[in-house]
Amino acid sequence: MIIPYENLKVLNQPFENEFKQKFAEFLDEGWYILGAEVHSFEKEFGDYHHEKYVVGVANGMDALILSLKCCDFQNGSEVIVPSNTYIAAILAVLHCGLIPVLVEPDIHTYNIDPGKIGVAITDKTVAILVVHLYGQCCEMGPILSIAEDKKLKIIEDCAQAHGAIYRGRQAGTFGDFGAFSFYPTKNLGALGDAGAIICKSEANYQTLKQLRNYGSNAKYYNLVVGYNSRLDEIQASFLRIKLMHLDAINEHKNKLADIYLKNLDTRFIKPVVSADFYNVYHIFNIRHPDRDRIKAYLLENNIGTEIHYPIEPHKQEALKGLNHLKYPISSVIHQTTLSLPCSFAHTVDDINHVIAVLNKFD
Ligand SMILES: *Cc1c(COP(=O)(O)O)cnc(C)c1O
Repeated sequence: MIIPYENLKVLNQPFENEFKQKFAEFLDEGWYILGAEVHSFEKEFGDYHHEKYVVGVANGMDALILSLKCCDFQNGSEVIVPSNTYIAAILAVLHCGLIPVLVEPDIHTYNIDPGKIGVAITDKTVAILVVHLYGQCCEMGPILSIAEDKKLKIIEDCAQAHGAIYRGRQAGTFGDFGAFSFYPTKNLGALGDAGAIICKSEANYQTLKQLRNYGSNAKYYNLVVGYNSRLDEIQASFLRIKLMHLDAINEHKNKLADIYLKNLDTRFIKPVVSADFYNVYHIFNIRHPDRDRIKAYLLENNIGTEIHYPIEPHKQEALKGLNHLKYPISSVIHQTTLSLPCSFAHTVDDINHVIAVLNKFD
């Protein structure tokens, strides 16, 4: 039995016939950029979140950059970001001429620790960029209170949390901006790069539409210094098909995660889930001091795993200015975390097999 960490071809197989039909229609139509499919996807993604304003963009990183640009912060302003994250959030802050201020996660949820945000706020702080990591929402209650109190904007990186819920509300609907990636491996994945932003005001919606298209609202009239960051028609049409199955995909991953949570030995540290949260498990991770040995052992047994992520953002060569800083909780997570197979492409049998093999590790 070979169990890869992920198999995108198998994952997309149930939708192949619909994709093919859509592609035939697309060729017939001959309209490739910013047309009816993007418009319909924006509407349907908005409906899914009970939100009015959605702007399709080229990818998740751009969704973050355009959200920050839309706020028009003064150069050198500070943005609070988690120290334990995929680096995109920090790069987006840097690309906008802003300063990332890293805040440590909670060791049980792996998400930014609301109790540590307060001391990181200075006169220059303008926003909190939260990342709903692994498919679990951040603890938004206290974070929203801090932002309101200190008049800070909230940007949510929802690249791993499509449809995740905290106290009845979905990821992407708490802050001023919800930035999504539809990279093929994400819970809602396109067949290439794609992204979107949920925003809360008509004014921001109009600005974001300009920013994604050269700062233009009518052909050849440029109002702001914009970008080329449009969502392709063909990707939007594929996403419309997948969106109808997003809940099923999330439920499947949630069910697989539940089997791990119930049956994996307690010597593997599992994510802590409380009643306020519905997690969509973009990633199901365990932690163990012998992580590398476990990874090798699973590979010997034909089970693929990944590490999200092997190097902390502040230790990356690209972020030399942060290399001297210490984020011990983040470092422990990076050194001990291991992501197990937990995809829409996996079956319950697959997961039971992984558990049986893992529980025999010594
Ligand atoms: C995937 C991902 C991104 C980047 O999305 P792209 O579409 O690849 O640009 C950003 N943040 C997080 C947390 C991600 O997992």
